Amino acid sequence: MKLHILGTGTAIPRIERGSSSYVVRAKGLNILIDVGPSVVRRLLERGFDVDDIDLIVITHFHVDHTADLSTFFFACNYGKVAREKPLTLIGGKGIARFYQALRKVYPWIEPKAYGLTVKSLVHGSFVYKGITITTVPVKHNPESIAVRFDDRRSLTFSGDTDFSRNLIRLADRSDLLVAECAFPERKVKGHLNLESLDRIVKKAMPNRVLLTHLYPDWDTYTGVLHAPYLLAEDGMEINI
Ligand SMILES: [Zn+2]
Ligand SMILES: [Zn+2]
Repeated sequence: MKLHILGTGTAIPRIERGSSSYVVRAKGLNILIDVGPSVVRRLLERGFDVDDIDLIVITHFHVDHTADLSTFFFACNYGKVAREKPLTLIGGKGIARFYQALRKVYPWIEPKAYGLTVKSLVHGSFVYKGITITTVPVKHNPESIAVRFDDRRSLTFSGDTDFSRNLIRLADRSDLLVAECAFPERKVKGHLNLESLDRIVKKAMPNRVLLTHLYPDWDTYTGVLHAPYLLAEDGMEINI
């Protein structure tokens, strides 16, 4: 399994940190997690094309996680060649309604030559081409989910969340937990800081924890991070 980090930022537009988004490469498949502003362009920068993506997971509907979804679908129809490869879109409660609403505003995103499966996965598992995908609801928006991928290795994404017991269970002994840690010290409702994330990590005991979804508070943070924590940067690649 390999993780490509497209962006590590938030709703605040920044040069250094694009919208939080990732590509997971496993079993020859490419899974895109969240599609916020400029993510389609970020895919190209990292050597991917929209046609390379087999599955998209949306952790919640906030604009910094979904704004480029219509750009993605539009490019599937009107790229160099119209996409023919099937695409699966997974999200929490209401993902089908969300997609239909987008399609109403942008009728041009309706798939022309490929099959699109839209699947709501609120709390459960399913096997996608040999990769087990498990989701749980987390504390941010009503539709917010965290997601875990199990191949021979395991990789968990917190999505945006506050302290969550569901996340503790989901991340249990993951090889890597990609965790939102919006602020190092400040505690803001609906998000984690180092203290609240540490309470999750002490129980879930993942091997490594990658901190992402980083607000500018991190620019002036002078503390020292110890294992298992690692601060994410845009463009990082991690073998799992
Ligand atoms: Zn966010
Ligand atoms: Zn959010």
